[in-house]
Amino acid sequence: MKKIIITIDGWSSCGKSTLAKAMAKALNYVYVDSGAMYRAITLYFLRNHVDWTDKKEVNKAMKDISLEFVFNEKSQQSEIYLNGENVEYVIRDLVVAEKVSEVATIKEVREAAVAIQKEIGKGRGIVMDGRDIGTVVFPDAELKIFMTADNAVRVERRFKELYEKNPNVTIEEIKANLEMRDYIDSHREISPLKKADDALVLDNTNITEKEQFHKAMKWAKERKGVVV
Ligand code: C5P
Repeated sequence: MKKIIITIDGWSSCGKSTLAKAMAKALNYVYVDSGAMYRAITLYFLRNHVDWTDKKEVNKAMKDISLEFVFNEKSQQSEIYLNGENVEYVIRDLVVAEKVSEVATIKEVREAAVAIQKEIGKGRGIVMDGRDIGTVVFPDAELKIFMTADNAVRVERRFKELYEKNPNVTIEEIKANLEMRDYIDSHREISPLKKADDALVLDNTNITEKEQFHKAMKWAKERKGVVV
């Protein structure tokens, strides 16, 4: 049976990963969180005091970084490992979120992440979410979705998610972080966040998770070879 590539790009905290995970599960595909790679690289830079404005330091650091996704049977999802350490949870911290968009503008960082993403997608049968997946990583993907939602809704969602882990977090800092990331992500020189010409827009401001899932699955089933 032919497997396809599904890309889900869009603004921060639009629910991309929720939809991508649900679709991958239903289709028996692999879910790949490309943002986790940029977050893990940022974590490495922060921990090792890498001055990422210095090309030499970045090149040296990138040689020392190894990233891997490992499927966790218990949580039923793949988790990211940085040099052998599971960093899936620590990379969600606001300290990483504050710097990740800056790090993601760096050419060497993007080249390394994109090479791994392309390798994972070789056999197709994946749902990958991010910012440049439909435009740059898999321009030939069979289904491209571009997600969007009202700012206030996105801030509220991310606040709820992070508050559970850290009750000291404030709605103001979440709002500032989302606005900053969206700005940098959509204005950077290399692979800026933008809708691919052939992407279908999914605005989930006023629809439930279930409705969004059915809508996206309908699009997937319309693609040749997709049988559920
Ligand atoms: O998806 P997530 O919000 O975890 O991504 C974190 C950051 O990683 C984004 O704000 C963006 O700066 C960067 N990113 C990227 N390209 C991708 C995925 C994420 O530049 N494909």
